[in-house]
Amino acid sequence: MIVGLKWLVYSNMDVPAMDVKLVPEKIGNGKEEGSSLDCELYDVELAPEKVESGKEEGPSFHCDFFDIELAHKIAQVFLPGLATACVDNTTGDIFKTAASVAVDIRKEMVDYLTQRSESFVAESFILEGSPEGEASDHPYNILSDFVDDYASSKRNLFSRVSGWLLSEKREDKIDDFVQEMEINKFWLMDRREEISQSLIKNVDFKNQFHCNMKFNSVEELAEHVVHCGFRPTECNNKGCSATYCANQMEKHDIDCPYKIIPCEQKCLDSIMRREMDRHCITVCPMKLVNCPFYAAGCQSTIPQCLLEKHRLENVHSHLLHILQGIHKEVSVDDLKKRVEQLEELSSGKLAEALDTRSLTNSVKGLEAKLGPLEVSATNTATDNGHEKEGAEASREANNQVQMQ
Ligand SMILES: [Zn+2]
Ligand SMILES: [Zn+2]
Ligand SMILES: [Zn+2]
Ligand SMILES: [Zn+2]
Repeated sequence: MIVGLKWLVYSNMDVPAMDVKLVPEKIGNGKEEGSSLDCELYDVELAPEKVESGKEEGPSFHCDFFDIELAHKIAQVFLPGLATACVDNTTGDIFKTAASVAVDIRKEMVDYLTQRSESFVAESFILEGSPEGEASDHPYNILSDFVDDYASSKRNLFSRVSGWLLSEKREDKIDDFVQEMEINKFWLMDRREEISQSLIKNVDFKNQFHCNMKFNSVEELAEHVVHCGFRPTECNNKGCSATYCANQMEKHDIDCPYKIIPCEQKCLDSIMRREMDRHCITVCPMKLVNCPFYAAGCQSTIPQCLLEKHRLENVHSHLLHILQGIHKEVSVDDLKKRVEQLEELSSGKLAEALDTRSLTNSVKGLEAKLGPLEVSATNTATDNGHEKEGAEASREANNQVQMQ
Protein backbone atom coordinates (compact mmCIF):
# COMPACT_ATOMS: atom_id res chain seq x y z
CA MET A 1 0.00 0.00 0.00
CA ILE A 2 2.86 2.35 0.83
CA VAL A 3 4.45 1.73 -2.53
CA GLY A 4 1.20 2.55 -4.24
CA LEU A 5 0.89 5.80 -2.43
CA LYS A 6 4.41 6.76 -3.29
CA TRP A 7 3.72 6.35 -6.95
CA LEU A 8 0.55 8.29 -6.57
CA VAL A 9 2.26 11.14 -4.84
CA TYR A 10 5.05 11.13 -7.38
CA SER A 11 2.66 11.15 -10.26
CA ASN A 12 0.67 14.03 -8.85
CA MET A 13 3.45 16.22 -7.56
CA ASP A 14 5.19 16.01 -10.84
CA VAL A 15 2.26 17.21 -12.85
CA PRO A 16 0.94 20.28 -11.16
CA ALA A 17 -0.88 21.39 -14.26
CA MET A 18 -3.23 18.45 -14.21
CA ASP A 19 -6.80 18.84 -13.16
CA VAL A 20 -8.08 18.13 -9.71
CA LYS A 21 -7.54 14.70 -8.30
CA LEU A 22 -7.40 12.88 -5.09
CA VAL A 23 -9.40 15.31 -3.00
CA PRO A 24 -9.66 13.59 0.34
CA GLU A 25 -13.13 14.87 1.20
CA LYS A 26 -14.17 11.97 3.36
CA ILE A 27 -11.11 11.69 5.56
CA GLY A 28 -13.06 12.32 8.76
CA ASN A 29 -14.74 8.97 8.95
CA GLY A 30 -11.59 6.80 8.70
CA LYS A 31 -12.22 3.90 11.04
CA GLU A 32 -8.81 2.30 11.16
CA GLU A 33 -5.84 4.00 12.71
CA GLY A 34 -3.58 3.09 9.81
CA SER A 35 -5.77 4.47 7.14
CA SER A 36 -6.24 7.84 8.73
CA LEU A 37 -2.49 8.13 9.12
CA ASP A 38 -2.10 7.45 5.46
CA CYS A 39 -4.62 10.13 4.73
CA GLU A 40 -2.86 12.67 6.88
CA LEU A 41 0.42 12.10 5.22
CA TYR A 42 -1.33 12.44 1.96
CA ASP A 43 -3.03 15.64 2.88
CA VAL A 44 0.19 17.33 3.89
CA GLU A 45 2.22 16.28 0.89
CA LEU A 46 -0.26 16.97 -1.80
CA ALA A 47 -2.08 20.00 -0.44
CA PRO A 48 -5.02 19.16 -2.69
CA GLU A 49 -7.27 21.85 -4.00
CA LYS A 50 -10.94 21.78 -3.28
CA VAL A 51 -13.19 20.81 -6.10
CA GLU A 52 -14.73 24.10 -7.08
CA SER A 53 -17.41 23.15 -9.51
CA GLY A 54 -19.41 20.91 -7.26
CA LYS A 55 -21.31 19.84 -10.36
CA GLU A 56 -19.63 16.49 -10.65
CA GLU A 57 -21.07 14.02 -8.24
CA GLY A 58 -19.57 10.62 -7.57
CA PRO A 59 -16.10 9.25 -6.97
CA SER A 60 -13.44 11.90 -6.63
CA PHE A 61 -10.22 9.92 -6.22
CA HIS A 62 -8.71 9.46 -9.68
CA CYS A 63 -5.99 7.12 -10.82
CA ASP A 64 -3.55 9.09 -12.94
CA PHE A 65 -1.43 6.44 -14.56
CA PHE A 66 -0.93 6.51 -18.30
CA ASP A 67 0.95 4.78 -21.09
CA ILE A 68 4.52 5.87 -20.45
CA GLU A 69 5.82 4.66 -23.77
CA LEU A 70 3.19 6.55 -25.76
CA ALA A 71 3.79 9.74 -23.77
CA HIS A 72 7.47 9.43 -24.64
CA LYS A 73 6.76 8.81 -28.31
CA ILE A 74 4.49 11.83 -28.56
CA ALA A 75 6.96 13.99 -26.63
CA GLN A 76 9.51 13.17 -29.32
CA VAL A 77 7.32 14.80 -31.93
CA PHE A 78 7.26 18.14 -30.12
CA LEU A 79 10.84 19.16 -30.76
CA PRO A 80 10.85 18.72 -34.56
CA GLY A 81 7.40 20.36 -34.62
CA LEU A 82 8.65 23.35 -32.72
CA ALA A 83 11.79 23.54 -34.86
CA THR A 84 9.69 23.50 -38.03
CA ALA A 85 7.43 26.26 -36.74
CA CYS A 86 10.39 28.42 -35.66
CA VAL A 87 12.35 27.94 -38.89
CA ASP A 88 9.38 28.52 -41.21
CA ASN A 89 8.32 31.52 -39.17
CA THR A 90 11.64 33.32 -39.46
CA THR A 91 13.08 32.25 -42.78
CA GLY A 92 14.05 35.19 -45.00
CA ASP A 93 13.65 37.53 -42.06
CA ILE A 94 16.82 39.48 -41.34
CA PHE A 95 15.68 40.60 -37.91
CA LYS A 96 14.69 37.26 -36.45
CA THR A 97 16.24 33.83 -35.99
CA ALA A 98 14.56 30.57 -35.13
CA ALA A 99 16.16 30.69 -31.70
CA SER A 100 14.85 34.19 -31.04
CA VAL A 101 11.24 33.13 -31.39
CA ALA A 102 11.50 29.66 -29.81
CA VAL A 103 10.32 30.61 -26.32
CA ASP A 104 7.20 32.38 -27.57
CA ILE A 105 6.36 29.81 -30.18
CA ARG A 106 6.77 26.97 -27.70
CA LYS A 107 4.30 28.58 -25.34
CA GLU A 108 1.86 29.22 -28.15
CA MET A 109 2.25 25.67 -29.41
CA VAL A 110 1.53 24.14 -26.00
CA ASP A 111 -1.56 26.33 -25.65
CA TYR A 112 -2.69 25.37 -29.12
CA LEU A 113 -2.23 21.65 -28.46
CA THR A 114 -4.04 21.89 -25.14
CA GLN A 115 -6.99 23.71 -26.68
CA ARG A 116 -7.22 21.45 -29.70
CA SER A 117 -7.11 18.33 -27.56
CA GLU A 118 -9.70 19.70 -25.13
CA SER A 119 -12.11 20.50 -27.91
CA PHE A 120 -11.36 17.26 -29.69
CA VAL A 121 -14.66 15.64 -28.70
CA ALA A 122 -16.52 18.13 -30.84
CA GLU A 123 -14.14 17.61 -33.75
CA SER A 124 -14.41 13.84 -33.60
CA PHE A 125 -18.20 14.05 -33.80
CA ILE A 126 -17.95 16.03 -36.99
CA LEU A 127 -15.43 13.60 -38.45
CA GLU A 128 -17.45 10.55 -37.56
CA GLY A 129 -18.14 8.42 -40.57
CA SER A 130 -15.01 9.49 -42.34
CA PRO A 131 -13.30 6.53 -44.00
CA GLU A 132 -10.01 6.78 -42.15
CA GLY A 133 -11.78 7.03 -38.80
CA GLU A 134 -10.23 3.93 -37.33
CA ALA A 135 -6.58 4.70 -37.93
CA SER A 136 -6.90 8.33 -37.00
CA ASP A 137 -8.28 7.82 -33.51
CA HIS A 138 -4.94 6.71 -32.09
CA PRO A 139 -3.71 9.45 -29.77
CA TYR A 140 -0.32 9.44 -31.46
CA ASN A 141 -1.87 10.18 -34.85
CA ILE A 142 -4.26 12.77 -33.48
CA LEU A 143 -1.60 14.65 -31.54
CA SER A 144 1.08 14.53 -34.19
CA ASP A 145 -1.48 15.90 -36.66
CA PHE A 146 -2.11 18.75 -34.24
CA VAL A 147 1.62 19.43 -34.09
CA ASP A 148 1.83 19.47 -37.89
CA ASP A 149 -1.20 21.76 -38.14
CA TYR A 150 0.35 24.15 -35.69
CA ALA A 151 3.70 24.17 -37.45
CA SER A 152 2.10 24.88 -40.85
CA SER A 153 0.11 27.74 -39.37
CA LYS A 154 3.37 29.50 -38.47
CA ARG A 155 4.77 29.72 -42.02
CA ASN A 156 5.64 33.26 -42.98
CA LEU A 157 5.09 34.81 -46.37
CA PHE A 158 8.58 34.00 -47.61
CA SER A 159 8.34 30.33 -46.77
CA ARG A 160 4.95 30.09 -48.49
CA VAL A 161 5.86 31.61 -51.84
CA SER A 162 9.45 30.66 -52.47
CA GLY A 163 9.57 26.89 -52.94
CA TRP A 164 11.26 26.87 -49.58
CA LEU A 165 9.00 24.12 -48.28
CA LEU A 166 10.46 21.55 -50.63
CA SER A 167 14.07 22.60 -50.33
CA GLU A 168 16.77 20.49 -48.74
CA LYS A 169 18.14 23.56 -47.08
CA ARG A 170 14.96 23.82 -45.05
CA GLU A 171 15.25 20.21 -43.88
CA ASP A 172 18.84 20.82 -42.80
CA LYS A 173 17.91 23.99 -40.97
CA ILE A 174 15.15 22.22 -39.08
CA ASP A 175 17.43 19.31 -38.15
CA ASP A 176 20.14 21.69 -37.02
CA PHE A 177 17.72 23.62 -34.89
CA VAL A 178 16.41 20.43 -33.25
CA GLN A 179 20.00 19.56 -32.39
CA GLU A 180 20.71 23.03 -31.10
CA MET A 181 17.71 22.82 -28.77
CA GLU A 182 18.77 19.39 -27.55
CA ILE A 183 22.32 20.53 -26.86
CA ASN A 184 21.08 23.56 -24.98
CA LYS A 185 18.53 21.46 -23.10
CA PHE A 186 15.94 23.93 -24.28
CA TRP A 187 12.87 21.75 -23.77
CA LEU A 188 13.70 18.71 -21.71
CA MET A 189 12.08 15.36 -22.36
CA ASP A 190 10.61 15.24 -18.84
CA ARG A 191 8.70 18.45 -19.39
CA ARG A 192 7.54 17.40 -22.83
CA GLU A 193 6.33 14.07 -21.46
CA GLU A 194 4.25 15.82 -18.82
CA ILE A 195 2.53 17.81 -21.51
CA SER A 196 1.98 14.83 -23.76
CA GLN A 197 0.55 12.90 -20.82
CA SER A 198 -2.19 15.46 -20.26
CA LEU A 199 -2.87 15.67 -23.99
CA ILE A 200 -3.27 11.89 -24.17
CA LYS A 201 -5.95 12.02 -21.49
CA ASN A 202 -7.87 14.56 -23.54
CA VAL A 203 -7.99 12.53 -26.73
CA ASP A 204 -7.91 8.92 -25.52
CA PHE A 205 -11.65 8.34 -25.39
CA LYS A 206 -11.36 4.59 -25.40
CA ASN A 207 -9.12 4.67 -22.32
CA GLN A 208 -6.57 2.49 -24.03
CA PHE A 209 -3.63 4.64 -23.05
CA HIS A 210 -4.51 5.97 -19.63
CA CYS A 211 -6.35 4.82 -16.55
CA ASN A 212 -9.56 6.66 -15.82
CA MET A 213 -10.61 4.79 -12.70
CA LYS A 214 -12.19 6.86 -9.95
CA PHE A 215 -12.75 5.85 -6.35
CA ASN A 216 -14.70 6.98 -3.33
CA SER A 217 -11.84 6.93 -0.87
CA VAL A 218 -8.10 7.24 -0.79
CA GLU A 219 -7.95 3.68 0.57
CA GLU A 220 -9.76 2.29 -2.43
CA LEU A 221 -7.52 4.24 -4.73
CA ALA A 222 -4.40 3.07 -2.92
CA GLU A 223 -5.61 -0.48 -3.26
CA HIS A 224 -6.13 0.05 -6.99
CA VAL A 225 -2.81 1.66 -7.84
CA VAL A 226 -0.74 -1.34 -6.80
CA HIS A 227 -2.66 -3.42 -9.33
CA CYS A 228 -3.33 -0.79 -12.00
CA GLY A 229 -2.25 -2.03 -15.44
CA PHE A 230 -0.80 1.41 -16.18
CA ARG A 231 1.35 1.64 -13.04
CA PRO A 232 4.98 2.42 -13.86
CA THR A 233 7.15 -0.65 -13.60
CA GLU A 234 10.90 -0.86 -13.86
CA CYS A 235 12.57 -3.59 -15.82
CA ASN A 236 14.26 -6.10 -13.54
CA ASN A 237 16.87 -7.19 -16.02
CA LYS A 238 20.31 -6.10 -14.86
CA GLY A 239 21.56 -3.12 -16.83
CA CYS A 240 18.16 -2.17 -18.27
CA SER A 241 16.77 1.18 -17.20
CA ALA A 242 13.45 0.95 -19.03
CA THR A 243 10.26 1.97 -17.29
CA TYR A 244 6.97 0.86 -18.77
CA CYS A 245 3.38 0.20 -17.78
CA ALA A 246 2.79 -3.01 -15.87
CA ASN A 247 0.54 -4.30 -18.64
CA GLN A 248 3.42 -3.94 -21.12
CA MET A 249 5.76 -6.10 -19.10
CA GLU A 250 5.50 -9.11 -21.38
CA LYS A 251 5.89 -7.01 -24.49
CA HIS A 252 9.06 -5.43 -23.10
CA ASP A 253 10.44 -8.72 -21.91
CA ILE A 254 10.26 -10.17 -25.42
CA ASP A 255 12.57 -7.43 -26.74
CA CYS A 256 14.53 -6.32 -23.68
CA PRO A 257 18.16 -6.18 -24.83
CA TYR A 258 19.35 -6.94 -21.32
CA LYS A 259 17.39 -10.11 -20.77
CA ILE A 260 19.51 -13.21 -20.24
CA ILE A 261 18.30 -15.93 -22.58
CA PRO A 262 19.53 -19.38 -23.60
CA CYS A 263 21.94 -19.47 -26.53
CA GLU A 264 20.14 -19.40 -29.88
CA GLN A 265 22.52 -22.08 -31.16
CA LYS A 266 21.64 -24.22 -28.18
CA CYS A 267 24.99 -24.39 -26.48
CA LEU A 268 24.70 -24.62 -22.70
CA ASP A 269 25.38 -20.90 -22.12
CA SER A 270 22.86 -18.17 -21.41
CA ILE A 271 23.67 -14.78 -22.88
CA MET A 272 22.28 -11.25 -22.70
CA ARG A 273 20.07 -10.71 -25.75
CA ARG A 274 22.18 -7.80 -27.01
CA GLU A 275 25.32 -9.99 -26.89
CA MET A 276 23.74 -12.96 -28.65
CA ASP A 277 24.84 -12.27 -32.22
CA ARG A 278 28.43 -11.72 -31.18
CA HIS A 279 28.43 -14.83 -29.00
CA CYS A 280 27.05 -16.98 -31.80
CA ILE A 281 29.68 -15.98 -34.32
CA THR A 282 32.64 -16.02 -31.93
CA VAL A 283 32.91 -18.05 -28.74
CA CYS A 284 29.79 -20.20 -28.95
CA PRO A 285 30.86 -23.86 -28.87
CA MET A 286 28.03 -24.60 -31.29
CA LYS A 287 29.32 -22.18 -33.92
CA LEU A 288 29.58 -24.10 -37.19
CA VAL A 289 33.03 -24.31 -38.75
CA ASN A 290 34.43 -26.08 -41.77
CA CYS A 291 36.26 -29.35 -41.35
CA PRO A 292 40.02 -28.64 -41.16
CA PHE A 293 40.36 -30.92 -44.21
CA TYR A 294 37.95 -28.84 -46.23
CA ALA A 295 40.66 -28.01 -48.74
CA ALA A 296 41.37 -31.71 -49.24
CA GLY A 297 37.71 -32.38 -49.97
CA CYS A 298 35.79 -33.01 -46.72
CA GLN A 299 33.00 -30.50 -46.93
CA SER A 300 31.43 -31.16 -43.55
CA THR A 301 30.51 -28.24 -41.31
CA ILE A 302 30.72 -29.08 -37.64
CA PRO A 303 30.02 -27.24 -34.37
CA GLN A 304 33.46 -26.12 -33.20
CA CYS A 305 33.12 -28.09 -29.97
CA LEU A 306 32.77 -31.32 -31.98
CA LEU A 307 35.69 -30.68 -34.28
CA GLU A 308 38.07 -33.06 -32.57
CA LYS A 309 35.45 -35.79 -32.43
CA HIS A 310 34.89 -35.36 -36.16
CA ARG A 311 38.59 -35.50 -36.83
CA LEU A 312 39.10 -38.67 -34.81
CA GLU A 313 36.07 -40.41 -36.23
CA ASN A 314 36.87 -39.61 -39.85
CA VAL A 315 40.59 -40.36 -40.14
CA HIS A 316 39.74 -42.91 -42.77
CA SER A 317 37.80 -40.66 -45.09
CA HIS A 318 40.17 -37.73 -44.55
CA LEU A 319 43.09 -39.97 -45.55
CA LEU A 320 41.20 -41.09 -48.61
CA HIS A 321 40.71 -37.45 -49.61
CA ILE A 322 44.41 -36.77 -49.20
CA LEU A 323 45.36 -39.83 -51.26
CA GLN A 324 42.91 -38.87 -53.97
CA GLY A 325 44.74 -35.57 -54.18
CA ILE A 326 48.10 -37.27 -54.52
CA HIS A 327 47.12 -40.17 -56.83
CA LYS A 328 44.53 -38.61 -59.13
CA GLU A 329 44.37 -41.55 -61.54
CA VAL A 330 43.97 -44.38 -59.07
CA SER A 331 40.61 -45.97 -58.21
CA VAL A 332 38.99 -45.48 -54.85
CA ASP A 333 39.16 -49.21 -54.13
CA ASP A 334 42.92 -49.24 -54.49
CA LEU A 335 43.23 -46.09 -52.43
CA LYS A 336 41.16 -47.64 -49.67
CA LYS A 337 43.67 -50.47 -49.42
CA ARG A 338 46.41 -47.88 -49.22
CA VAL A 339 44.55 -46.11 -46.41
CA GLU A 340 44.54 -49.33 -44.43
CA GLN A 341 48.26 -49.80 -44.98
CA LEU A 342 48.98 -46.25 -43.95
CA GLU A 343 46.94 -46.53 -40.79
CA GLU A 344 48.63 -49.73 -39.85
CA LEU A 345 52.07 -48.29 -40.41
CA SER A 346 51.42 -45.08 -38.53
CA SER A 347 49.88 -46.93 -35.55
CA GLY A 348 47.30 -44.21 -34.89
CA LYS A 349 49.66 -41.26 -35.35
CA LEU A 350 47.78 -39.95 -38.41
CA ALA A 351 44.80 -39.05 -36.23
CA GLU A 352 46.93 -36.33 -34.68
CA ALA A 353 47.30 -34.28 -37.86
CA LEU A 354 45.34 -31.06 -37.46
CA ASP A 355 45.12 -29.78 -41.02
CA THR A 356 45.47 -30.72 -44.67
CA ARG A 357 49.11 -29.73 -44.95
CA SER A 358 50.35 -31.73 -41.95
CA LEU A 359 48.29 -34.77 -42.90
CA THR A 360 49.59 -34.64 -46.49
CA ASN A 361 53.17 -34.44 -45.22
CA SER A 362 52.70 -37.41 -42.91
CA VAL A 363 51.07 -39.40 -45.70
CA LYS A 364 53.89 -38.65 -48.11
CA GLY A 365 56.47 -39.71 -45.51
CA LEU A 366 54.70 -42.99 -44.86
CA GLU A 367 54.17 -43.66 -48.55
CA ALA A 368 57.89 -43.36 -49.14
CA LYS A 369 58.34 -46.21 -46.68
CA LEU A 370 55.52 -48.27 -48.19
CA GLY A 371 56.91 -48.10 -51.69
CA PRO A 372 54.93 -47.73 -54.91
CA LEU A 373 51.17 -48.04 -54.85
CA GLU A 374 49.76 -51.37 -55.99
CA VAL A 375 47.14 -50.91 -58.67
CA SER A 376 44.71 -53.78 -59.16
CA ALA A 377 43.99 -55.33 -62.55
CA THR A 378 40.39 -54.07 -62.71
CA ASN A 379 41.52 -50.56 -63.35
CA THR A 380 43.83 -51.37 -66.18
CA ALA A 381 41.46 -53.85 -67.84
CA THR A 382 40.13 -52.79 -71.20
CA ASP A 383 37.02 -54.90 -70.66
CA ASN A 384 34.00 -52.62 -70.77
CA GLY A 385 32.04 -54.42 -68.08
CA HIS A 386 34.92 -54.26 -65.67
CA GLU A 387 35.59 -50.67 -66.41
CA LYS A 388 31.99 -49.81 -65.71
CA GLU A 389 32.06 -51.73 -62.48
CA GLY A 390 35.13 -49.86 -61.42
CA ALA A 391 33.67 -46.48 -62.28
CA GLU A 392 30.48 -47.28 -60.43
CA ALA A 393 32.33 -48.43 -57.38
CA SER A 394 34.40 -45.30 -57.43
CA ARG A 395 31.31 -43.13 -57.70
CA GLU A 396 29.70 -44.97 -54.84
CA ALA A 397 32.74 -44.55 -52.68
CA ASN A 398 32.78 -40.87 -53.47
CA ASN A 399 29.18 -40.52 -52.42
CA GLN A 400 29.88 -42.27 -49.18
CA VAL A 401 32.70 -39.96 -48.42
CA GLN A 402 30.63 -36.93 -49.12
CA MET A 403 27.85 -38.08 -46.90
CA GLN A 404 30.12 -38.37 -43.89
ZN1 LIG B 1 -5.32 2.96 -12.58
ZN1 LIG C 1 14.46 -4.25 -19.94
ZN1 LIG D 1 26.14 -20.52 -27.65
ZN1 LIG E 1 36.03 -33.76 -42.22
